[in-house]
Amino acid sequence: MIDPDPKFCHQCGETLTHKIPDGEDRPRGVCTSCGNIHYINPRVVVGTVIESGDRILLCRRAIEPAHGKWTPPAGFLEVGESTVDGAIRETWEEARAKVEVVQPLVSIDLTRIGQIHVKYLAKMKSDEFEAGPESLEVRWFNYSEIPWDELAFPVTHWSLRLRMEDRALGQGRFHRGTLAWNKQGSPLDIDNYDLSDLQSWPLLSGKDLSQD
Ligand SMILES: [Zn+2]
Repeated sequence: MIDPDPKFCHQCGETLTHKIPDGEDRPRGVCTSCGNIHYINPRVVVGTVIESGDRILLCRRAIEPAHGKWTPPAGFLEVGESTVDGAIRETWEEARAKVEVVQPLVSIDLTRIGQIHVKYLAKMKSDEFEAGPESLEVRWFNYSEIPWDELAFPVTHWSLRLRMEDRALGQGRFHRGTLAWNKQGSPLDIDNYDLSDLQSWPLLSGKDLSQD
């Protein structure tokens, strides 16, 4: 979920007021004592879509939101970490799997909640995996048996759908788009979103992992 607005100043601890600072165009938290302006910017979520032949490795979440639902391993990028390193780390934490990145897959903007989701296509460096502390279960699914109604988030759904399109084409691609809520119905329901500004680029070195 989106970061809550801070109520107190990070620098001096006094209360914040919300106003448009001079020279800016939107309200920010401004300290009533020292004048420090508190900027809130989107956070980056990184993860991997791990394939082996016709299978994909999914984790069943042991935490909210979407407890009990399936997703590729993903989590918040840490400061000082590249997106590739973060995706590999999250994969280890949630699936106890050691992977290497094959290609960038998606960069999806979730403007409603201020997140950017970057996912890499990856493959296993060894066969071992098991549920990490934030997963109830980790297992391979054939692409034909993905539990579409039990996926964790709309961004999960879109990422897997796009990868399936790439596989059908036999072409690695990189996709970017804004996953926009249509402002009606539940924001957790895939049917209430569109990815209308989607752009997909073929990758010159996009290896077709389905042939592995
Ligand atoms: Zn202050």
